[in-house]
Amino acid sequence: MDKPVQTPADEHEHSNTIPVINPATGELVGKVNSGTAGDVDAAVTSASEAFPKWAVKDGTERAKVLFGAAALVRSRQADLANLLTREQGKPLKESKNEIAGFAKILEYYASISGLLKGDYGHSSAYGHAIVSRNPLGVCGAIIPWNVPAIIMGWKVGPALASGNALVLKPATTAPLTCMQLVGCLVEAGLPGNILQIVTGPGPVVGEAIAEHPDVRAVSFTGEVATGRRVASLAAPLFKRITLELGGSDPMIVCKDADLTVAAKGAVAGRFFNCGQTCTAVKRLFVESSVEEEFVHKLETLIRSLKVGNGLGSDVDMGPIHSLAQQHLISGQIERTVDGGFGKITTGGKEIGEGDHTGFFFEPTLLSGLDPEAPVMREEVFGPVLPVMPFDSLDDAISAANSTQFGLGASVWTHDSRVISRACEELQAGIVWVNQHLKLPPEVPFGGTKDSGIGRENGRYALDHYLEEKTILIKP
Ligand code: NDP
Repeated sequence: MDKPVQTPADEHEHSNTIPVINPATGELVGKVNSGTAGDVDAAVTSASEAFPKWAVKDGTERAKVLFGAAALVRSRQADLANLLTREQGKPLKESKNEIAGFAKILEYYASISGLLKGDYGHSSAYGHAIVSRNPLGVCGAIIPWNVPAIIMGWKVGPALASGNALVLKPATTAPLTCMQLVGCLVEAGLPGNILQIVTGPGPVVGEAIAEHPDVRAVSFTGEVATGRRVASLAAPLFKRITLELGGSDPMIVCKDADLTVAAKGAVAGRFFNCGQTCTAVKRLFVESSVEEEFVHKLETLIRSLKVGNGLGSDVDMGPIHSLAQQHLISGQIERTVDGGFGKITTGGKEIGEGDHTGFFFEPTLLSGLDPEAPVMREEVFGPVLPVMPFDSLDDAISAANSTQFGLGASVWTHDSRVISRACEELQAGIVWVNQHLKLPPEVPFGGTKDSGIGRENGRYALDHYLEEKTILIKP
């Protein structure tokens, strides 16, 4: 079978539907409407009309809908996970966890939706001071293809729990699971039109959301360049904006770390979702004295990863999501190796033979890297782990901080002085110690530097969706 072909969204600008293709097989998974700016406008108008009734509902009533939707999602986990794997490519076990993760996020926001109260004070000079926290109205959300259900949850959960309406644009290449999840919310009793999903090309539908005058806030997850574009459209209208952009997370392994545990953590942290995760381990720094032993452990683990169609029961890593991404990653490795910046220890090539008809890529380990290597300076959104040795903690922290990004970072050691310095000095929105990637729903998530602005997850996300009104009453 030939390689699946994914047509870039803008080539569909003038047709009515867009095919959704399985990146492992080329199978047509479904078709979605190629929306227009007019569709966005209609969605915003009907969401605005529906908003007042949802906004005045008691938090416990909104919670009932979110809890109900979470229960429906859990009861349909197997089917939803199957659909997610077919449109996105990730192994079924990862899809199942992602669907359960979406339900968990809804449950978390349902559990705090009764607590979104304001404040009250009294003084003889000013009387009663009431600070109410109110939903904004219609908000917009634009999400990528890599972890669509979880990222949708991060936006839908707090927006709905706090009483807003939301117009959501999913990625063109992975919209189907999101559409089903919207269906679960509606079936659980979400009033019609409060949550609207508009599919279609980013430059058309995404930009129409960002620049619509009645969309009060925009939450965007995706690439840095797209984030800049979205921000430039939203800023003149003084919209609130949250940008969750790219990352090039460093992982620092010190010589006293449990190297076996750290190697497993690095492989899970890098090759999960075929390396297409914003907070994946993208640059690994290991203390020179244990470099050889550690690289050997990594190589053994990486060589044992089974690559294949995500629907297979024992598959560890599915395909890359698109042909363009597959070629981009090949190019980043080629420029690194040909430029003399590092060497391939294992992997390094696109897989295109035998059962592998999709956009597969060998799990890749690069070693002996120069800090100027393209794979160290650019975000690599695929299954490639570059390893660089360091001699002192100063060197490791300075190399870790030497990119435009600042999303996540981790340090692996049991030395409390090293932990405390790393936590303080690493420039990142989240620092893990002896782990990487895991995130409970209660804590804030977001980046610094070019990795974005604002925070999602936890109660912190509510600040994006609520605004305070001060009422002063003189008796
Ligand atoms: P893109 O920025 O290309 O796309 C993200 C979303 O934006 C898609 O829905 C896309 O639509 C839409 N879009 C594209 N162009 C525009 C535009 N001009 N105006 C408005 N919206 C637009 O990112 P990717 O899909 O390639 O996602 C991968 C990137 O996302 C990586 O850099 C990754 O690190 C980052 N990411 C960040 C996370 C974080 O939380 N910090 C989490 C996950 C990913 P369409 O699909 O139609 O092109």
